[in-house]
Amino acid sequence: FTPGIEPQATWCPGCGDFGVLKALKGAMVELGRDPDETLLVTGIGCSGKLSSYFESYGFHSIHGRSLPVARAAKLANPGLEVVAAGGDGDGYGIGGNHFVHTARENHDMTYVVFNNEIFGLTKGQTSPTSPKGHKSKTQPHGSAKDPIRPLSLSLTGGASYIARTAAVNPNQAQEILVEAIEHDGFSHVDFLTQCPTWNKDAKQYVPYVDIQKNEEYEFDITDRREAGEAMYEAESALYDGTVLTGRFYHDETRPSYHEEKQSVGELPEQPLAEQYFDPDREWERSLELVENHT
Ligand code: SF4
Repeated sequence: FTPGIEPQATWCPGCGDFGVLKALKGAMVELGRDPDETLLVTGIGCSGKLSSYFESYGFHSIHGRSLPVARAAKLANPGLEVVAAGGDGDGYGIGGNHFVHTARENHDMTYVVFNNEIFGLTKGQTSPTSPKGHKSKTQPHGSAKDPIRPLSLSLTGGASYIARTAAVNPNQAQEILVEAIEHDGFSHVDFLTQCPTWNKDAKQYVPYVDIQKNEEYEFDITDRREAGEAMYEAESALYDGTVLTGRFYHDETRPSYHEEKQSVGELPEQPLAEQYFDPDREWERSLELVENHT
């Protein structure tokens, strides 16, 4: 990976998505990851363009479905470093079901959610993280709904690494992404990204607080109860104008989905991706059949 952002990126000037790209590439460089051994799967939205600007293998999937595609790829080829990404609408709304169950099953991958409290690509509609009272074309009198609590939902689902960072904090963002990628299990990073085109009111512009650097928020990130309380406070504070970021939960003891499956003999010794290219297997003949018909 080469550090920095892709000059051809077509996000609006000042968009927080540039910050995600820079931090993610920085994390890959820091970890010495190879683009040939990395897959980035995206959903639909401005965030979906990330897979076009990354140097690794990419899969721009459909709305809310980046996680099932990422899961399938990881199961077929466990040696791949898999990252999935999407926006708050894509991930917490359309793909909310996949989010909860990928966390529950603790699939070994990193899930980055660009949270700008709005649907950006489709021109500013209310999203699951828009604050109550937020006015948009779809909610002209203000949203009557409380926003979703993504960190708490992730913890309840079963994610084993949960953090929140912000595009305005590039150093912390890269540090957190390094940890998330290194973690064996489902890592969820709620990444606050400003959308200056459609959501000028988003709180991501105000100064943030790093909970690991502030004694007022001291808690044990390996303790589910303490982590849950910290998340609830951070999720409430966000809409009151205090942006609390940092690591909220880290469980290094829970086996990943792949490890669980392997321990009960439910996964083949030879990964599916290798079987496909093994000339001694039935696959080869299937491949020839396909080639002969094209
Ligand atoms: Fe970024 Fe918003 Fe522009 Fe989309 S519409 S590229 S989220 S600033």
